[in-house]
Amino acid sequence: MTLSQPQSTAWFERACAVTPGGVNSPVRAYGAVGGVPPFIESASGPYVRDIDGNEYVDLVCGWGPMLLGHAHPAVIDAVRETAARGLSFGAPSTGEVELATEIAGRVGPVEQVRLVSTGTEATMTALRLARGVTGRDLVIKFEGCYHGHSDGLLASAGSGLATLALPGSAGVPEAVAAQTILVPYNDLEAVRAAFESHPGRVAAVITEAAPANMGVVPPSAGFNAGLAALCHEQGALLVCDEVLTGFRTGPAGWWGVEQGRAGADARWAADIFTFGKVIGGGMPVAGLGASASIMAHLAPQGPVYQAGTLSGNPVAVAAGLATLRSADAAAYSAVDAAAERVIAMTTEAFAAAGVAHAVQRVGNLFSFAFGDGAALGWTGANGGPANEAQVKRQEAWRWPAFFRSMLEGGVNLPPSVFEAWFLSAAHDDAALDRIASALPAAAAAAAAA
Ligand code: PMP
Repeated sequence: MTLSQPQSTAWFERACAVTPGGVNSPVRAYGAVGGVPPFIESASGPYVRDIDGNEYVDLVCGWGPMLLGHAHPAVIDAVRETAARGLSFGAPSTGEVELATEIAGRVGPVEQVRLVSTGTEATMTALRLARGVTGRDLVIKFEGCYHGHSDGLLASAGSGLATLALPGSAGVPEAVAAQTILVPYNDLEAVRAAFESHPGRVAAVITEAAPANMGVVPPSAGFNAGLAALCHEQGALLVCDEVLTGFRTGPAGWWGVEQGRAGADARWAADIFTFGKVIGGGMPVAGLGASASIMAHLAPQGPVYQAGTLSGNPVAVAAGLATLRSADAAAYSAVDAAAERVIAMTTEAFAAAGVAHAVQRVGNLFSFAFGDGAALGWTGANGGPANEAQVKRQEAWRWPAFFRSMLEGGVNLPPSVFEAWFLSAAHDDAALDRIASALPAAAAAAAAA
């Protein structure tokens, strides 16, 4: 079956004339999988519909924010009601306070929150804050972790850079890049060595709470706790980036999942957390949170400057607040159960087609790595890759065939093997059954690739 896409094809041609590569974010491009990206006209629940009338079960979910599914009534009502009272005031409004309260109420170590509009701003500000607090310059970052597109964070940054096989970005001055020390993920000894080769100079370690931008790579047991301990021993701050995992993997993010696990050695606290995606419910909201004493370094209280015309935008904040308030225990159980089923059915389809693979998962976030892990030297959880170098040692060429067959079968996956699959509380049996029917042909296509 071939997709009928005359409208998307025509619009993509127009898009390419006026926008570089035809997209406003490189991860939306279909360079790695071939063909033209569907132009989406509407979305509801677990489905997106394109301008050619094709409907897909959506496993991108806006790259994370749509935890409750698309066009959730409570979120749309909140946006409508708020928008009718004006779009932007550039002055305090009550929703900002309520959203900050909701976030701080869920994530223990967070006492105060500063809202911004994108995850990029959140991590950029978090690092400026860490530098301001410690008076140090250097930052340790893990290969394959993505923290947005600010200059210092683009080296070995996973996500679209991994898809495009770029080591980093042109246009980043060497002097800026030199402030970031790269280390392999899941390797505490490498972090210790980085600290030791730059004594007293490291302001922060930044990590994804659980990496999901090189595909999913679970932190090994005790890794985050070990990082926190090492940072504190070295007088540095731990910045835990929960832009993607926050309020998606559980009501208190991946941090909350780890705290809920038995054993005091699993408990840890980051000094600064960053959030995004779900806290905006599909609108541009992100934020950073920390103790009141750390946050006191931010302007106007302290000397670390940060600002934003649209920060805490009332309409965006209303969408985030409605999303978080609707994300009750039942919603998280629904997302978790849907993820469980998709993992099971996909694993079964790959096994039946003889496609060697490993499932990589952190709670309801997951991805598949192709290949025989033992032969490829994977050393991570579940026999999968433990870091970016291992992730890249996989049969990535199987993804385009798998992806295209799924799309033709009515399932919208991320157009790269280096991205996580996203589910929502709206992925009901009917949606999951559609995925199940698309899988056998797609797994066979992956096997034949
Ligand atoms: N941090 C993480 C962990 C992310 O996954 C992302 C986006 N995928 C960002 C930061 C950047 O967020 P934004 O795209 O909103 O700038």
